[in-house]
Amino acid sequence: MKLATPFALPNTLALPAWADFGAELETPDDVCEAIQFARAHRAPLRILGAGSNVIVAPQVAGFVGRMSIVGIDVVDETDSTITIRVGGGENWHQLVLRCITNGWYGIENLALIPGTVGAAPVQNIGAYGAELADFVVEVEGFDDVGRTITLDNERCGFGYRSSIFQLQPGLTITHVRLQLQKVFRPRLGYPGLRKQFAHNRLKTLTARQVADAVIAMRQARLPDPDRHPNVGSFFKNPVVSAELVETIRALGLDAYLEGDGYKLSAAQLIDYCGWKDKPAEKVACWPNQALVLVNQGGAKAADVLTYAAAIRADVQARLGVALVQEPTKIQ
Ligand SMILES: Cc1cc2nc3c(=O)[nH]c(=O)nc-3n(C[C@H](O)[C@H](O)[C@H](O)COP(=O)(O)OP(=O)(O)OC[C@H]3O[C@@H](n4cnc5c(N)ncnc54)[C@H](O)[C@@H]3O)c2cc1C
Repeated sequence: MKLATPFALPNTLALPAWADFGAELETPDDVCEAIQFARAHRAPLRILGAGSNVIVAPQVAGFVGRMSIVGIDVVDETDSTITIRVGGGENWHQLVLRCITNGWYGIENLALIPGTVGAAPVQNIGAYGAELADFVVEVEGFDDVGRTITLDNERCGFGYRSSIFQLQPGLTITHVRLQLQKVFRPRLGYPGLRKQFAHNRLKTLTARQVADAVIAMRQARLPDPDRHPNVGSFFKNPVVSAELVETIRALGLDAYLEGDGYKLSAAQLIDYCGWKDKPAEKVACWPNQALVLVNQGGAKAADVLTYAAAIRADVQARLGVALVQEPTKIQ
């Protein structure tokens, strides 16, 4: 492990940020060394991937390890399935493309989600009618004192944009095992995708076509972080009670039955409260998707958090709905 001090923190919101200590973690041994280093210095240890779901403070105390373990290995194969073990530092979108090329299907709806494979279980990445939990066999890594851990799908505690890794941030993910299919079966549950392929013969539809459609929809709606720094959705879609949903629907806003409650579109709530027209000096809602907050230039973590807090307070006051922040604060 090559120690850097200070260590620049990658993040797609383009916030200026440094940690006291840090290193690229290229092997499981590097991870162990980082854990021991942090313990010896009584410093907190945090793991980052591409920084596409974090709000980083300008000066982060302690050690930040950047997950850089690579490698994609086939570890099991049946007539119909293939199980791969992927290093936590692999790029998620490149993995999706490689799987399609190899004839390993399932994750094509998750194309173009930024970030690393190691971070994908943390918030159980999801989009366009699929989520990571549908494919995870197990997750490997280390606990906060350096013991190896292997958690099967159930023990990962996956939920909507949540997992055990959010409740126990001391766990480091080094590898993820995914089970994919050898025969392509399109997942067209998401209305926008279904509509797109309404006139296609499903038998001839390919995984590449589905991925391309997902990529095109994402590019039309979401800002490219390289040009307009952002972390994707800033708030989770809230789930509310049957009582509250009547008020929401009376305002012409959408609500979908979800478990015991009703899921609302956080973007629609923010839009309804007029935030697309209320930019701050350095932070604003993206015009095509109010849920995405963009650093317009020179913003620091405090600017983003202040703007987000104002949105949250306004939505709570006017609609009675509590918004929960999606990206993690690293400070
Ligand atoms: C434009 C854009 C669009 C997006 N669209 C989606 C979407 O459609 N669906 C979706 O679910 N998300 C989306 N996201 C959010 C983001 O892409 C995912 O959360 C992604 O998994 C984050 O990966 P990362 O490597 O950047 O993680 P980071 O931002 O570096 O880290 C995120 C969290 O995971 C922890 N972490 C990272 N790596 C590890 C590890 N190896 N072990 C333990 N903990 C770790 C970090 O400490 C942090 O708490 C989007 C983001 C952007 C910028």
